[in-house]
Amino acid sequence: MHPISAQVPEERIKKPGVVPRISASSALTSLPPLSLYVHVPWCVRKCPYCDFNSHELKNEVPEREYLAALQADLEQALPLIWGRQVVSIFIGGGTPSLLSAKALDEMLAMFRACLNVLPDAEITMEANPGTVEAGRFADYAASGVNRMSLGIQSFDDRALKALGRIHDARQAREAIEVAQRSVDRVNLDLMYALPGQSIEACAKDLQQAMAFQTGHLSLYHLTLEPNTVFAKYPPVVPDDDISAAMQDLITEATSAGGWEQYEVSAYAKPGQRCLHNLNYWEFGDYLGIGPGAHGKLSFHDKIIRQAKLKNPASWIEKSVRRDGSHIAEERIIGPAELGFEFMLNALRLKDGVASSSFKEHTGLSLLAIKPAVDRARARGLLDPELGRFRASALGWRFLNDLQAEFLE
Ligand code: SF4
Repeated sequence: MHPISAQVPEERIKKPGVVPRISASSALTSLPPLSLYVHVPWCVRKCPYCDFNSHELKNEVPEREYLAALQADLEQALPLIWGRQVVSIFIGGGTPSLLSAKALDEMLAMFRACLNVLPDAEITMEANPGTVEAGRFADYAASGVNRMSLGIQSFDDRALKALGRIHDARQAREAIEVAQRSVDRVNLDLMYALPGQSIEACAKDLQQAMAFQTGHLSLYHLTLEPNTVFAKYPPVVPDDDISAAMQDLITEATSAGGWEQYEVSAYAKPGQRCLHNLNYWEFGDYLGIGPGAHGKLSFHDKIIRQAKLKNPASWIEKSVRRDGSHIAEERIIGPAELGFEFMLNALRLKDGVASSSFKEHTGLSLLAIKPAVDRARARGLLDPELGRFRASALGWRFLNDLQAEFLE
């Protein structure tokens, strides 16, 4: 449901092996903020465009087994994050709102018991219209959820049907109202360039979303991902010119309405940016627990990436064994990849990042990316301002080209 999760494209995960550590001369002097990502892998039905680790629910959510495995997963990871504060928690999926209020409450209590969660930590939960009950949402909030992210996608019943969503426009509107009554911070996920969508229909969707005046909007271009039903049976989607016009319309309308675009797909009112996702883009650390969850964790002499088993049943079975067999991959991120990953994330941010944070968060010297920086500046893709890495206006339009400069 939510494209920004602690998940990393599979092809980027290599088998464990011997990888050189960061040299002592480029070790990290401090650790970045730490977030927690929790993956809830079940959905009522699999959407035909979805390439997330989500599984159609055959019966009830196996809450007891899931919570026991989650606790085991977390406890086995504790030595990796000893003593560190957790600044944000993101419960994503899948459809976390399939969890009962009691299960969610136990989950958050477990996190508070095991982790040093900041008292004012941002705690986001993803929810799908169609799984929303007013009482349950109020209970989620009472347990500590203070931000909700709703997978609305569209207010057009025909588009929702084409996307295989289980909700209709009326349920979408009701879900937003319930979420707004439950928490102060609400995000709406909306997609554009949908099958058969016109520019006018896109504008209408956007106006309906903006009318709710939520603090945050996430606007995603529909992409036909490999290994999805849409990849096999592609629907007719708007061409590049029409989808570019939709993007222009989104930029103008959100800006006029008071939402500032701060990332490729993220728009926020003042003070409403998603702190959890900002931590990813600023190359912070995150521990990922749950099936298929990925994590990135820094130590003074290395940065590692970890991935858990994707299949929910296997992850549950292996996690409770507490022998590490629920970990699918774990490896040190090599220096070349570190530089690329840092820039890949940083350049998604409209304001970019301070260049000093490169050494701070990768442990590498700026010399490691100097040739790529020089090339990108010479092509006019990277802002010439020293002390900052930020896409220029041209680089923002051709972000893939800019990011590719940093690919070794
Ligand atoms: S609701 Fe649909 S898009 Fe969201 S995670 Fe489930 S299957 Fe994927």
